[in-house]
Amino acid sequence: MDSLVICTDNVATDGSVKSTNKKNISRDVESEIENLCKAVPQLAKTFRIIEKIGEGTFSSVYLGEARMRDGSREMFALKHLIPTSHPTRIAAELQCLTVAGGRENVMGVEYCFRNEDHVVIVMPYMEHQAIVDIIGSLSFEEVRLYMYHLLKALRHIHQFGIIHRDIKPNNFLYNRKAKTFALVDFGLAQGTSNTQIELLKLVKPVKTGELSSRRFLSGRGGPATVRPLKTHRGVRQPLICNCFQTERVCNICLSRKQQVAPRAGTPGFRAPEILTKCPDQGTAIDMWSAGVIFLSLLSGRYPFFKASDDLVALAQIMTIRGSRETVRAAKAFGKVVLCSQELPQLDLRVLCETLRGQRPSKDAKPISKTKPETTDEGAQKQACETPRPHPKSRDKTLKPSSQRDCLVHDERGWDTVPDEAYDLLDLLLDLNPNSRITAAQALEHPLFKDL
Ligand code: ADP
Ligand code: MG
Ligand code: ZN
Repeated sequence: MDSLVICTDNVATDGSVKSTNKKNISRDVESEIENLCKAVPQLAKTFRIIEKIGEGTFSSVYLGEARMRDGSREMFALKHLIPTSHPTRIAAELQCLTVAGGRENVMGVEYCFRNEDHVVIVMPYMEHQAIVDIIGSLSFEEVRLYMYHLLKALRHIHQFGIIHRDIKPNNFLYNRKAKTFALVDFGLAQGTSNTQIELLKLVKPVKTGELSSRRFLSGRGGPATVRPLKTHRGVRQPLICNCFQTERVCNICLSRKQQVAPRAGTPGFRAPEILTKCPDQGTAIDMWSAGVIFLSLLSGRYPFFKASDDLVALAQIMTIRGSRETVRAAKAFGKVVLCSQELPQLDLRVLCETLRGQRPSKDAKPISKTKPETTDEGAQKQACETPRPHPKSRDKTLKPSSQRDCLVHDERGWDTVPDEAYDLLDLLLDLNPNSRITAAQALEHPLFKDL
């Protein structure tokens, strides 16, 4: 890490440091750019590196201007990968861009520079807005278009057997004025079993061992506890140990082999099958992340889930999708999840409208189940006086919300969000990856019928 140089003219007479000095920050970046040009001397011959536009765990991205043969100037994004990146990993990222990129809302690649262990990927520069800056001013129509284009990019890469693994707004560039979109960052991508990206067959997924600590979540009616997750080989096989369904972890369990499964990505966007360490993960994990983005855009909250670890993330999912439903889905893919508290599934429309301030917060009620056998006591107790149907079994006679309830009028279309939006959201946030909607299916959804 570079140390930050603080000039004496930045210090007030009382010795306190004045608020952030832009000169200092740019001086830091300046020296970074200088170092980059030293590390990859070929760069400076082609580009005038103007500024830094992004920084992640595995790279720094710079804006570079190149003079073209015809004398015109063009802008490029120069992604400098950290020198410790595995060569196969780098080559696989490049291959995703070269094979699948440059069309269907997927970023392309122009060139690549390498000097010793330094690699710089050169891409066309796409001006874009950060979601966090524009989320408050987006119209529903913009959100619908954004999702359509994200799903198009996902359908495209999934056709190549690419699992992106880090779908989030920072990796899906959006130029609001030009209405252009580009999926970037294949730095964590993995291949499906029949991937067309040869190098993805060679990359090793990022894996970690089983988490063993209990985590708490404060929610309605006190904290819910999510227990350490235990793996069965085959759902029906009994667990022969002393601690099953207790607060302890017994010696038999301590001596078990750690469950390893890929878990790269950003906690708040991780699908339940990642959080529960399901070893076979497919393109459905990207669809879950797309669902989290949609939830964020519909509710006007970004980030929506902010979790410090996987069990907190799972507990947060339960508060929206229901604990019973989560436990049931986990069982379907061979995982036992214990939750100390019953958390009812929430109605997605009521949740989003409440978070947008479209309706008073007392309205945010759980869904009351239509079938008695699926009704749980907790949900019944808190259920709405006027129950709303589950999105999947929605009543076709339902009118847009503005006609149903007295909502705040909104010229950006937030008072007339159609049921189709929440129906698609529900299908994306399907807790079970085997039944979760695919990108190809999602593009056929009635929400997009005119596109
Ligand atoms: P990382 O692996 O470090 O997250 P990314 O490929 O996601 O690297 O790039 C980091 C950031 O740099 C992006 O979030 C985006 O803001 C910016 N960026 C990346 N590629 C481009 C591009 N082609 N045009 C414009 N900005 C880009
Ligand atoms: Mg990124
Ligand atoms: Zn045990």
